[in-house]
Amino acid sequence: MQQRRTVSPTDPFPMVIVERLVKRFGSFNALSGVSLKVAKGEKIVLCGPSGSGKSTLIRCINHIEKHDSGRIVVDGIELTDRIRDINNIRSEVGMVFQSFNLFPHLSVLENCMLAPMKVRGLAEPEAHERAVALLRKVRIHDQAHKYPTQLSGGQQQRVAIARALCMQPKIMLFDEPTSALDPEMVKEVLETIVELAQDGMTMVCVTHEMGFAREVADRVVFMDLGSIVEEGDPSTFFRAPNTDRAKAFLNRII
Ligand code: ADP
Ligand code: MG
Repeated sequence: MQQRRTVSPTDPFPMVIVERLVKRFGSFNALSGVSLKVAKGEKIVLCGPSGSGKSTLIRCINHIEKHDSGRIVVDGIELTDRIRDINNIRSEVGMVFQSFNLFPHLSVLENCMLAPMKVRGLAEPEAHERAVALLRKVRIHDQAHKYPTQLSGGQQQRVAIARALCMQPKIMLFDEPTSALDPEMVKEVLETIVELAQDGMTMVCVTHEMGFAREVADRVVFMDLGSIVEEGDPSTFFRAPNTDRAKAFLNRII
């Protein structure tokens, strides 16, 4: 078993700092004062009932949603409205969604080359080389010239992972990456994410795949009603959760 890596209260350089984060939709508090630090190399599994704010939290970390108050610092850079080039910040944070979100009119290869060329300014040969290498890593390079609709869901999701990695992100955020997949495809995508974890990538993964959480998570963070209710190492959390809310949640999903 790999040694677990988790943030220490004195870690001077966590990869992500979230402090007292509040996000409202109208008068509704989707996040009501969430604080979380993610250490470099740490793997966090984020779980909790539907509507608890998991997607909103990781969308704020990627600055797809603007938070109302509190702080988010990614690799030492605070996300504020004053940031001039949000694309550059976003490119430090790779994101993989439930619904793949590949560009349908671009081939697999072109999907992977677009952002490195447009956002990072990579020349085409370098973008091509990087895309091929990462498609090989997720074992899909033989499909590089196909279009997304010609691939299975599992293959599309692995392309989405390769595409995110082509930006050389410092952290990867996964929002229920396997929940739109047919059961037989879940394993191949989880294996890809496990390999990425073993390479040392910092990641926050929203998932209810408890086997995966036990295997790779340094820490499980449980949210309910817009707050972090409980967190702990996976074996403790799954065996003996502290709160009734976490117990009720685990009873429903296991
Ligand atoms: P989870 O990912 O844990 O299921 P979400 O972060 O998607 O939860 O949503 C948290 C809460 O915020 C839910 O009640 C949801 O309805 C609400 N919410 C999310 N996005 C929006 C939005 N764009 N407009 C209004 N309400 C939203
Ligand atoms: Mg969600």
